[in-house]
Amino acid sequence: MRAVRAYVGLGANLGDARAQLAGALESLARLPQTTVAAVSPWFRTAPVDADGPDYLNAVAALTTALHADALLAALHAIEQAFDRQRPYRNAPRTLDLDLLLYGDAVIATPTLTVPHPRLTERAFVLRPLLALAPDLVLPGGHRLDAFWPAVADQRIDEVCPPNVAQTTPAGRAPGRPKPARIPSGDRSVYPPDEGST
Ligand code: AMP
Repeated sequence: MRAVRAYVGLGANLGDARAQLAGALESLARLPQTTVAAVSPWFRTAPVDADGPDYLNAVAALTTALHADALLAALHAIEQAFDRQRPYRNAPRTLDLDLLLYGDAVIATPTLTVPHPRLTERAFVLRPLLALAPDLVLPGGHRLDAFWPAVADQRIDEVCPPNVAQTTPAGRAPGRPKPARIPSGDRSVYPPDEGST
């Protein structure tokens, strides 16, 4: 199967959120037929439609030849490895992994909806995703950045990741960074993912 660009949203607000996000990124990098092409800056965000402590969020760009179902199953396995519990809807969590986009695919099965249905409603997804892929166009033809104004009031602050090596896009050519057009005038430490769809 041809490799596609997939985007995975990461979040945690229980336990050692930094360690769990770092561990999840290592787990993603170990998936078969998959490489982590880039990781967004990390953000501290207010819970949306939920209680509990602030979240730590990021988005990873994957190049993967796994089928979407297999990738989702792998994401669930990683969540379980980090002791994810589901006591009630939107409960605080040690780790949440969402398949945001899978190439240009539009998928609607009982277990998988892609693009992720709440992708455009959440600053904690839009901001890191736009940092990686500022010119991204959704499968329906809408530019992703058009959704930013509607979520710009949601609290989201960039934080330093614990290990810069984990957040530097893999394999990018030196000297070619192009400044990311991050909404609300914030800077991005890392260049956008130029290979995004
Ligand atoms: P959550 O408890 O928020 O992690 O939701 C997980 C449930 O959402 C699982 O039953 C998944 O099958 C389902 N789901 C549907 N679409 C997606 C998606 N794009 N990414 C992650 N989970 C999804």
